Amino acid sequence: MKKNIKIETKVIHLGGHPDPVTGSIMPPIHQTSTYVQSSPGKHQGYEYTRSHNPTRTRLEECLAGIENAKYCIATSSGMAAVTLIVHSIPKGQTILCGDDVYGGTNRLLNNVFDKHYDSHFIDTTDLKLVEASLKKHKPYLLWIETPTNPLLKISDIAKISKLCKKHKTILVVDNTFMSPIFQNPIDLGADIVVHSLTKYINGHSDVVGGAMMMNSKKLYDDIWYLQNSIGPSQSPFDSWLVLRGIKTLAIRMKAHEEGAKEIVKYLQKHKKVEKLIYPGLKDHPQYKIAKAQMSGFGGMISFYIKGGIKESRKFLSKLKFFKLAESLGGVESLANHPAIMTHASVPLAMRKKLGISDNLIRLSVGIENVEDLKKDLEQAFK
Ligand SMILES: *Cc1c(COP(=O)(O)O)cnc(C)c1O
Repeated sequence: MKKNIKIETKVIHLGGHPDPVTGSIMPPIHQTSTYVQSSPGKHQGYEYTRSHNPTRTRLEECLAGIENAKYCIATSSGMAAVTLIVHSIPKGQTILCGDDVYGGTNRLLNNVFDKHYDSHFIDTTDLKLVEASLKKHKPYLLWIETPTNPLLKISDIAKISKLCKKHKTILVVDNTFMSPIFQNPIDLGADIVVHSLTKYINGHSDVVGGAMMMNSKKLYDDIWYLQNSIGPSQSPFDSWLVLRGIKTLAIRMKAHEEGAKEIVKYLQKHKKVEKLIYPGLKDHPQYKIAKAQMSGFGGMISFYIKGGIKESRKFLSKLKFFKLAESLGGVESLANHPAIMTHASVPLAMRKKLGISDNLIRLSVGIENVEDLKKDLEQAFK
């Protein structure tokens, strides 16, 4: 059944069978640490909640299904998912990573895992550079984010996946920004897809969580072994909240995108905007790839305000509906100053090289009335 149904139906029904004991249409929260066995080793598939939990299993079924993957592991945060994947690499191996990834991923590779692995950061929008780096560094794993955070650069997943297969490198795609509604990296050849559930998938800014989906049983077994050994499994209650939030993922993503498109139109004409970045703009350098591999352009917008830190600060502290906060993908609109907030842990030289400057502002467009959002931006510009 999974293959023949559309994603709008999947988010509501996968993992959502009625409770066999009571008929309850909503899944029970199995808030338990352990499970009673009838004789030693005789149980119903559940022994201890760090290893498995029925509410988490339902969430994993749903998440695997919406990324067209066989397996899923749900973790206590997006970074826990990143950690488990990186930790599954044999010691001494090399990691190739996009140069404009989530600040926390950059920090993990540069400041924590640097004792175990060599990491190289490259612009993965440049396919020649990707191929040359695969040849030169022979990485065990290539980590990409597309669109990137915060500069919304697009990498060609299908082409990169072909290069990775040729060089026997595992391709991981962090798909947090698009969500499974607008992009499905497994279908394009990725080996593992990663999500921060904290963002669009849960969508209500009340859970921190992560997940990874894959088709390889070996990758699943190896990484699940680490999750069970190290311990960052998603809790039953947070699994339940995500199962609840995910039901509206499809309509939320459409609303986020609709709002973002209107705000892009407004910002395009604004005299206080120096430069606007949105994958759906025809002058975006990778517009064609975006259009081909994504079924929507999403709800994230970045722009450079005219001026510097003073103008950015003034604008951001005047916003009312756009809350000044880290994170993204919730129903409420958020504004962020990457250089001071989300990307402060990225070394200054790298920030400069990438263009994460003091006048860069990132918006996560929520699903409020877009006229109210435009008015809010206008009064803050003034
Ligand atoms: C937030 C985020 C993460 C990390 O997820 P947490 O749930 O905050 O640990 C990873 N990648 C991207 C693209 C993110 O936006």
